[in-house]
Amino acid sequence: MAIATINPATGEIIKTFAPLTDPQIDEKIGKAEETFRSYRWSSFADRGKWMLQAARILEEEQDRFGRMMTLEMGKPIKAAKAEALKCAWACRYYVENGERFLADIEIKTDATRSDVHFQPLGPILAVMPWNFPFWQVFRFAVPALMAGNVALLKHASNVPQCALAIEEIFTRAGFPAEVFQTLLIGSEEVEHVIDDPRVRAATLTGSIGAGKAIGGEAGRRIKKTVLELGGSDPFIIMPSADLNVAVKTAVQARTINNGQSCIAAKRFIVAESVAEPFERQFVEAMKNLKIGDPMDEKTDIGPLATADQVKILDEQVRRSVSGGARLLTGGKPVDRPGFYYPPTVLTDIPKETPAYREEMFGPVASLFRVANIDEAIDLANNTIFGLGSSVWTNDREERARFIEEMEAGMVFVNAMVASDPRLPFGGVKQSGYGRELSDFGIREFVNIKTVCIKEGGEGNRSETE
Ligand code: NAP
Repeated sequence: MAIATINPATGEIIKTFAPLTDPQIDEKIGKAEETFRSYRWSSFADRGKWMLQAARILEEEQDRFGRMMTLEMGKPIKAAKAEALKCAWACRYYVENGERFLADIEIKTDATRSDVHFQPLGPILAVMPWNFPFWQVFRFAVPALMAGNVALLKHASNVPQCALAIEEIFTRAGFPAEVFQTLLIGSEEVEHVIDDPRVRAATLTGSIGAGKAIGGEAGRRIKKTVLELGGSDPFIIMPSADLNVAVKTAVQARTINNGQSCIAAKRFIVAESVAEPFERQFVEAMKNLKIGDPMDEKTDIGPLATADQVKILDEQVRRSVSGGARLLTGGKPVDRPGFYYPPTVLTDIPKETPAYREEMFGPVASLFRVANIDEAIDLANNTIFGLGSSVWTNDREERARFIEEMEAGMVFVNAMVASDPRLPFGGVKQSGYGRELSDFGIREFVNIKTVCIKEGGEGNRSETE
């Protein structure tokens, strides 16, 4: 894919960028390694000072960054500004907690003293998607940099200005110049970067296909990876749920970011006894969303990010309908310039159709009816994905079963799934592995070094490994 800013609201090519040449990539990796040698010894106090400055820049210039995100990938402007602020929150969170998360841990053993130390690994490659073009990058970079690593970003090809702006934020904040570098490269260059011995680990947020490629390439070189991949999160509504709140949240959970979120609720699994009112109110609310220019503060649904996303989604909906699913609203691209697809609801969905099996990356909801909690859990878990899940019930026993039995990295009860710097974020099954955010996130890209000291005596002997 060409590296370019294309306005999804109009289809207009705004700016194209030349990809880096191999010598330029080599030079940037070299600078990353060289910078790491000194940066790793910087104090938490210095890193914290720079990170706080990054937070201030994000807060003060939220309008500029918000407009940049909306221009490149079409998210509603209000959400784009909020995204800049969320990045600032992550910066502040790790300034306050990073040092504590990485403090030495003493463990009592037979030795005079045994400890665990956390040390940075070196240059880490981050391959990131366009859907939250700032947040995805910051939630990796903030803990990675606070831990003393340096970062190389390969961002999605349709958000190059965001990628360059993020590099600029860290540099202006005071971090040494090559602590965070953007590599303007296509996906075909990623293997070359992973292959470089100076690059110590990699993280990807993206599709399962990219996860297989990057996980495989890093695996062959015995390099650590964290993979945050796709999802088809269930949103389960049981009879005891507060239906009005559930409907309102369901609409938001499906259409947030124009429906292009890995943790968007995608499959709505409703108990038979409340299915009819839920369906009626949900479809009505989806129809009432305001489609329009994403730069307009009043817009609920802007365009999808690229022409390709519209093509893929349209094809998935068509195949689902020709396979027997029934359309309740929406169902074909909006007839206007730009990459618009309307809020769409499908029901009576056969097992073999895309609406049942695949991730739908746009504002398309799949509705299912179930007789009881057993059926709800079976259906929710009958997927290759295992990212988030949202369950709506006021019954304590049902709640306990959902928490225990959902095959997902996250279970939210009577709330939509959302990321939060204080909570670990990640999935199971083909939604990936590893965790971002919280203390778990900052410990992904460190050497967890065991230190064992014996004073005096004759050392130790062990019969096993
Ligand atoms: P994508 O095609 O996988 O792209 C993501 C990134 O990977 C881009 O930088 C892309 O570069 C690169 N890439 C793609 N194929 C690659 C390959 N074979 N080798 C190396 N790099 C490769 O994903 P997308 O369609 O843009 O994003 C949507 C997907 O991301 C959805 O499945 C969504 O659920 C998932 N996602 C997951 C999370 C999470 O936290 N679990 C969060 C957000 C999104 P180019 O742009 O140059 O192709």
